[in-house]
Amino acid sequence: MRAAAEKIKPIIVCTVLFLILLIFGNCSRNDNYPKNIIIYIGDGMGVAHITAGKIARGTLNLERFSVSGMVTTHSENELITDSAAASTALATGRKTYNRAVSVSTDKKPLKTLFEFAEELGKSTGVVVTSSVTHATPAAFFAHVEDRRQHADIAEQIVNSGLDVLIGGGWTYFIPKSNEGSRRQDNKNLLKSLETRMPVVLSYDKLPGQVKKLAALLAPDGLPKSADRDYSLAELTEAAIRILSKNRKGFVLLIEGSQIDWAAHKQDHEGIIAEMIDFDGAVGTGFDFAQKHGSTLIIVTADHETGGFAVHDGSIKTKQVTSTGFTTTGHTASMVPIFAFGPGSSQFSGIQDNARIGQAIIDLLLKREIKN
Ligand SMILES: [Zn+2]
Repeated sequence: MRAAAEKIKPIIVCTVLFLILLIFGNCSRNDNYPKNIIIYIGDGMGVAHITAGKIARGTLNLERFSVSGMVTTHSENELITDSAAASTALATGRKTYNRAVSVSTDKKPLKTLFEFAEELGKSTGVVVTSSVTHATPAAFFAHVEDRRQHADIAEQIVNSGLDVLIGGGWTYFIPKSNEGSRRQDNKNLLKSLETRMPVVLSYDKLPGQVKKLAALLAPDGLPKSADRDYSLAELTEAAIRILSKNRKGFVLLIEGSQIDWAAHKQDHEGIIAEMIDFDGAVGTGFDFAQKHGSTLIIVTADHETGGFAVHDGSIKTKQVTSTGFTTTGHTASMVPIFAFGPGSSQFSGIQDNARIGQAIIDLLLKREIKN
């Protein structure tokens, strides 16, 4: 009897050791991979745009991140990218030509981060201050050969797996016969969207408790942050409240779309206002990630706009008094990236935007990341 017990003992010990390894091995593996991913894109946001925001604000939420790096942004065919090619790189991990929205150079659809996430049963959403059909958000859920195909992108939104859609752009969803429509057909996509989720057209109509939401708050882009009575942070909070109900997790894109627009206009006050609005939204996501864990946050830009520099001002009085621009367009300057949460260590150093996109997809799919 005792001899038999002695024989079984090593088997029991081995089994227990194996189970411990299995449980803790899995735990540490899961700790390295995020359940939720929030990507922030400051459109056109270079180092000087952040500098100007920091001078005016004092302290930014961006300073809460411990991991940071730089990103090269060129597209497949040009040194100076546009938002479509850059956003495609971030959303699919692949380079493409300027104006392409998540299609390859031979115009084949490229699978996006959102499409991978939806296959895993996760919820997806976008919150932008442009039209929701704009190139940057569109690259996460649509596939068109040219970013100007807003009407086609709107149609793809209706047929996509998106759970939250907040921004402007209702002009592309209403039939040609309706006043204010920019469609060339009589499709009523707002009606189609309503069969999938509640649709509201003004901020004060945002519902409290819903599982999905489309809030199209302006005909095209949203008003500038200075001209609206709600912040990007409030829109972000509404999106996270809905998406975080999914136990399998979510992937959310937030875009400060108008940092770019102010920089095209060489309007430094506009850049500062949009930067502060964007940074507030970053704080909302960061608070969520700190409280709930398992959330990877990435903040970066699609490209730099304006060749912008701060020439004078005062930290004491929080004023930017003199700035310069080298162009009314985009530049090839690298853009910053900030990361927090599981997998964040992948985003330090100098990397290309397509490599960043691939790393985000690898983390989502819990794949080993190749350097
Ligand atoms: Zn631009």
